[in-house]
Amino acid sequence: MGDRIPGHVDSTAWRRARRAAIRQANGYCQICWHPLVPEARAQTAWATEVDHIVELSKGGAPFDLDNLRAVHRGCHIQRHRVGEPPPQIKRSSAL
Ligand SMILES: [Zn+2]
Repeated sequence: MGDRIPGHVDSTAWRRARRAAIRQANGYCQICWHPLVPEARAQTAWATEVDHIVELSKGGAPFDLDNLRAVHRGCHIQRHRVGEPPPQIKRSSAL
C-alpha cells in the first residue's frame, strides 16, 4: 500500500483532532458504547485511542472530526483485525 502519512500521529494537527474526537465521544467508546477510561494506561485494552472511520489507506481524511471516533484500544485492535487471519494463540496449557 504505502499511502500512510508519515509522522501524522506526532503532528500538532493530529493532537488537536484527537482531543476533539475524544471530547465529541462524550465519554463513551464509539464501538462498544461502554465508558472510556481516561486513566487507563496506554497499550492496555481500555486505553483511549482515536480511530479513523474511513481508514487512511482508503482515502479517509486524517484530521477531519467526521472521520474520527474515540474508542478503546481493545475495540480498535479488534476492528482492524476483521478480515485478517486469526492470530496464533500460544496456549501454555498445551505443555
Ligand atoms: Zn470499546
